[in-house]
Amino acid sequence: MIAEVIINSTAKKLNKTFDYHIPKELEDYIVIGSKVLVPFANFKAPEEAYVVRIKEKSDFKVKDIIKIEDNLTDKQIELAEWMAKKYFCNVSDCIKLMLAPGTKNKKRENRISYKKINAIYPKKGIEEIEIDIETGNIKTDKQKKVLRFVINNPGCMVSEIEMFTDCTRGVVNTLIKKGYLEIIEKKIERNPLIGKNIEKSKKLKLTDEQQIAYNKIEKAIDTYKQFLLFGVTGSGKTEIYLQLIEKVLKNKKSAIMLVPEISLTPQIINRFIARFGKEEIAVLHSKLSIGERYDEWNRIKEGKAKIVIGARSAIFAPVQNLGIIIIDEEHDSSYKSEMLPKYQAKEIAKKIAQNENCPLVLGSATPEITTYYKSEIGEIERLELTKRANKSELPKVEIIDLKQELANGNHSMLSRELYNSIEENIKKKEQTILFLNRRGFSTFIMCRECGYTVKCKNCNISLTYHKYENKLKCHYCGYEESIAKTCPECGSNKIRYFGTGTQKLEQEIQKQFKGIKTIRMDIDTVSKKNSHEKILETFKEENIDILIGTQMVVKGHHFPNVTLVGAIAADSSLNIDDYRANERTFQTLTQVAGRAGRGEKAGKVIIQTYNPDNFSIQCSQKQDYNEFYKTEKALREQLKYPPFCDIIVMNFNGTSQDKITKLANRVYKYLNERKELEEFKILRPMPSPIDKIQNKYRWRIIIKGNINEEANETLNICLKKIYKMNQKDIRVSIDINPNNMI
Ligand code: ADP
Ligand code: ZN
Ligand code: ZN
Repeated sequence: MIAEVIINSTAKKLNKTFDYHIPKELEDYIVIGSKVLVPFANFKAPEEAYVVRIKEKSDFKVKDIIKIEDNLTDKQIELAEWMAKKYFCNVSDCIKLMLAPGTKNKKRENRISYKKINAIYPKKGIEEIEIDIETGNIKTDKQKKVLRFVINNPGCMVSEIEMFTDCTRGVVNTLIKKGYLEIIEKKIERNPLIGKNIEKSKKLKLTDEQQIAYNKIEKAIDTYKQFLLFGVTGSGKTEIYLQLIEKVLKNKKSAIMLVPEISLTPQIINRFIARFGKEEIAVLHSKLSIGERYDEWNRIKEGKAKIVIGARSAIFAPVQNLGIIIIDEEHDSSYKSEMLPKYQAKEIAKKIAQNENCPLVLGSATPEITTYYKSEIGEIERLELTKRANKSELPKVEIIDLKQELANGNHSMLSRELYNSIEENIKKKEQTILFLNRRGFSTFIMCRECGYTVKCKNCNISLTYHKYENKLKCHYCGYEESIAKTCPECGSNKIRYFGTGTQKLEQEIQKQFKGIKTIRMDIDTVSKKNSHEKILETFKEENIDILIGTQMVVKGHHFPNVTLVGAIAADSSLNIDDYRANERTFQTLTQVAGRAGRGEKAGKVIIQTYNPDNFSIQCSQKQDYNEFYKTEKALREQLKYPPFCDIIVMNFNGTSQDKITKLANRVYKYLNERKELEEFKILRPMPSPIDKIQNKYRWRIIIKGNINEEANETLNICLKKIYKMNQKDIRVSIDINPNNMI
């Protein structure tokens, strides 16, 4: 037998199949989807490859497959081939998403050692240890804590003990010396949910609205169908997800639920653990160590965990017998991958749901315009929840005109109204969230004399000022430099920083409200493992007065004691150069507003803006999605933007501006001559808005039109022709409806 394989390589030239002979002894094991090792070209080490087809004979003289390593299913291979065409990438790039994490690892032996760990077990009997704790043979609290932890989590690692008990390695060593604990090298699964003890929750009696939505989806549970669960924040969407999953499990099937990376907080995971127990659940996200992800992946593959909760890439989890896919906060931009392969998880989910014959549920309070449009034309069935499930009122939203504030002589970041409300909240001992969308609003340095701004040497963009390190940094390439006291251009010493970041806001708040407690959440403060959770937990548990943060604070958290939310500069997302500016503004403000008054106390929201008349700001005040949708849809139809057409961006990247323009113009001419693209509007090659990153020039051709199979094929052929020309110094790639137009 002969296997057609795809070599695991990002080289464009290798995006095709090669034939290999399957040795007799492997015939029973190699299937479509097998990951194998093959000799390739004149390489010394064997290469990894994936079997995509099996056939009787080959026209070539073929070599033997050396070894089999892992298996995918034929469905997964089909999906990978479909993806590669659709998203203009290598099949092997797509296959990699479907393999256990860490398997493309040059040091293969290392990966295996992930599974062999030093596990800590109790050495004496549990009763015996308990007696020793009671009678005072175990003296220190730390030792007691560690022993209790190990009894509850036999087989845990020292690092887990450190993490969950706050005790050091030394305490463990003492207990080993005393003969209470022992180390056993073991193949063990490390469930990241270990250490969580959560009270069971019972399913709630659904409200009428919830029941109607539930019934509709439940009826379709063995068929492919797409639903949009459109419900205001707090309307009980999550409760519906929980009950649908319960139903799916009863049918002996499994479930995938995607949530935005940032809302993968203990709050949401705990709700699922409380309902289903931790054994049933696997969590996949980027903060897990690679070993943890590897283990979660295998628990899913072996059918031990039937509920997968994860960010975008969890859509590729190797679940068996899939019964439902749920995508929460479906409007979130993190579902679109910005790395190769540049896929949209919602499109993958749809394909998988079709393959597996199961429903796909998209949930949101502010659906993406495109999704809502599909529900209008009948491609998706829309189910609405109009009321909050726990009867709490939607908060009052006020708009403050910052131009007016300035005219009245108020130059601070807080309007009078917001200042007074914060003061009142502090007195009432209720909590406040202040939200500052830093994008396009970060601090930069400018000379007041000549207007000089400090830009990155490698990328053509302003450097951002980081106060605590007193440095200027490039957010694209990491370049940093210290701050000049005089302008390098004109020598003036009037060089100042402008704009407002979260750091500056926190400082100003502490100056204005003496002695209050604040906590800040932004990219700088959450880069450590778990610190995102920790910040939110601290805010809740310790009753910190004010949480200050970027976009991160707006996603699905539930804080009953938060009664005031302030958006410091609502316009910052309006001024980005992107057709989705209105949509993003409306979504963000509506989500922000949804954070206030989720408990028994009423909530208040204050939106500060320089554009009080903008319709996305006004609609978010009224929390009126329908009006927003109508206005925005009309705009998009007129200007030809999604959903009325796709934006296809062909990127050219390289060190020589000259070579890029030559190639781009040739491609432009070629595309214009294609009959299959007649209906498409192809724009002239232009430099991208950020025309240089890391010393690479960036040009692009934008194509507008509805992408179909024919056009897709034509573009794939075009790319192949470019790769054949072997332009090593120019990288060409295609992105459909990218998140960023920069
Ligand atoms: P969403 O996911 O739409 O934001 P949640 O499911 O988080 O809404 O529900 C918001 C709050 O309402 C939660 O505290 C939840 O426990 C409560 N809740 C949801 N459904 C019900 C119900 N049927 N009866 C009572 N309370 C409910
Ligand atoms: Zn100057
Ligand atoms: Zn840079």
